[in-house]
Amino acid sequence: MEYMTARELETQYLICRSIGHAWDELPNADFSAELWRTSKGALALRCARCYAERYDYIGSDLSVVARRYKYPKNYQTIQGDDWRRPAMRFELFRRSLLVHPYTRRAATSDTKASVNGKTAPLVATRKGRARNGN
Ligand SMILES: [Zn+2]
Repeated sequence: MEYMTARELETQYLICRSIGHAWDELPNADFSAELWRTSKGALALRCARCYAERYDYIGSDLSVVARRYKYPKNYQTIQGDDWRRPAMRFELFRRSLLVHPYTRRAATSDTKASVNGKTAPLVATRKGRARNGN
């Protein structure tokens, strides 16, 4: 397996590792015959973003007795501590993904707020999104 850093991670994997998977129903489930046969039933889920699969096998008391995942290629290739969520969030900031960074700028619009008695504008910026009609 070839390892990579958070910086090299594909965008959809970075987002799932940062905020969790977007689970939805998986229509073409590939159940473990053994686990399915010995359980009351099973849930088959797929992430709408990265296509990871999750199988929850349910026991007679309705608890999850076994959980299995199938990950897409290159999802599990993070090296060292780079897989931890703060490292993932750092990468979200670096790529300007999902995050609305807090910045203070000179007053140029009516988006102002008082900070420590001084009036300062609050501007949420995101790469690629136009501001003030520009
Ligand atoms: Zn995912």
